[in-house]
Amino acid sequence: MHELAVCQALMEQVESIALEEQADSVVAVHLGIGPLSGVEPRLLEQAFFIARAGSIAAEAELVIENLPVRISCDQCGQTSDALPARLLCGVCGNWRTKLVSGDELQLQHMELVRQTADELAEPEADIQQQHERVN
Ligand SMILES: [Zn+2]
Repeated sequence: MHELAVCQALMEQVESIALEEQADSVVAVHLGIGPLSGVEPRLLEQAFFIARAGSIAAEAELVIENLPVRISCDQCGQTSDALPARLLCGVCGNWRTKLVSGDELQLQHMELVRQTADELAEPEADIQQQHERVN
C-alpha cells in the first residue's frame, strides 16, 4: 500500500519534531492533502493507524485538510481554482495553465503534550511547519 509508505515517512518527520520539541506525546497530526497528491485520504487514515503504533504518536489523531487545486494561467496571468480533472483557467478558460498547488501532501501542524519533571504543565505546543499557504 502506497499510503503506508507515505505514513511511515510522515511518522519519521513527526517523531523527529516531537523529539526536538521534547514532547512526551503527540495528540494530533494535521496533514494537508491536495487532490492531485496521488494519495487516497481514506487509505491514508487506515495506514496512519498502523504506522502510529508504538510511536510517540501512538494515540494521535490524524486531521486531514483537503487542499484546493490552484492553477495559474499562461494567457491572462490570473490564478484560479480548478477541478483536478479539468485544469482550465477560471478567468479566461485557457488550457495553458500551470499547477500552483493541489499535488501536495504536507505536515501542516502538530499538537504536542509536554510534561515537566514535577508538574503537569504546558498542555500543548503548536508547531507550524514550513509550507506555502494555499488560499
Ligand atoms: Zn486565463
